[in-house]
Formats: sequence, structure tokens, C-alpha cells
Amino acid sequence: MTINCQRSVFVAPCPVGRGLFAERPFRHGELILRLDGPRYEREDPIHFTEEGANLLQTGLKSYIMLQPPGVFANHSCDPNAGIAENRRMIAIRDIAPGEEICFDYSTTMDEGLWTLQCKCGSEICRGLVTDFSHLPSDKREMYLKMGIVQGFIARKERYKKFL
Ligand SMILES: [Zn+2]
Repeated sequence: MTINCQRSVFVAPCPVGRGLFAERPFRHGELILRLDGPRYEREDPIHFTEEGANLLQTGLKSYIMLQPPGVFANHSCDPNAGIAENRRMIAIRDIAPGEEICFDYSTTMDEGLWTLQCKCGSEICRGLVTDFSHLPSDKREMYLKMGIVQGFIARKERYKKFL
């Protein structure tokens, strides 16, 4: 069954469960979705529940609980989307209608709490999704240049360069 969420995207079955798909073409750089949801702190016990996997880290100690349809966006090690300015899911290349919309979860993770066994199937799959700081440096640079790394992580990376 397909759930229609907005005119621009839809949620449908995919190899890892359900995923977010493009209903119409998106141009490189275009806004796909604005993400929002209830706020949670790092100390909240929800991190250790199944629902905790739907939290998006937006600050060193702050998270939002993703809502449909954004919550259905799966991880890819070779993504076609990214999150700019903490909340804006944008296309990082042209996306065709019917294509699954994925972003690299590592661009939002710096917590040492959560990892994911990756089944994205891309040729450059890393196998395990971990914190941003564990990515190879060329990949970190690439994502930083694209402006799709959560602000609190990007600031930390800039600071590291002065050490
Ligand atoms: Zn992968």
C-alpha cells in the first residue's frame, strides 16, 4: 500500500521496509521537505527504545522525533539528498520521479549512541553507519562543502582544524 503524504513525495515499500520516494522531479539543490517534530534531550530514555531510531540529532544534546513522511527517508552511503541547516531536506543531485530519496545518516550523527548495519546496496556501501567523525576525511570534506552536515557537527569539524 502506498501512503500519499504530500504532493511532492510518497511513502512506499522498499527492500528495507518502507521508504520515501519522489512523486515529481527534484532539481539539484531543491528543497524536498522541511523536517520537524517534538524535541528530546540526549538524556531522554527514549533513545533506548525502538522509537529512538527515529530521532534526528539537531544539536550536541538535542533531537527531534521525525514525523511522516520525513521519518521514512532511509540511509544511503551514496545518497541523493541531504539535510541542510539542520531541518531542510534538499536534493544533492537531480532526482527523478519514482526514485527513492535517501540521505547519509552519518551527516547527522555525533553521539556515540547508535550504529546501523547498512543494507543500502550501493557500490560504495560502508557496511556500518556510524558517527560523522568516523567517516573517511575525504567524505567528511565533501559533505561539509555541500552544506549538508548538521550545524553542531560542522562547527566541531571547523574547530578541529585549529587544534
Ligand atoms: Zn551503505
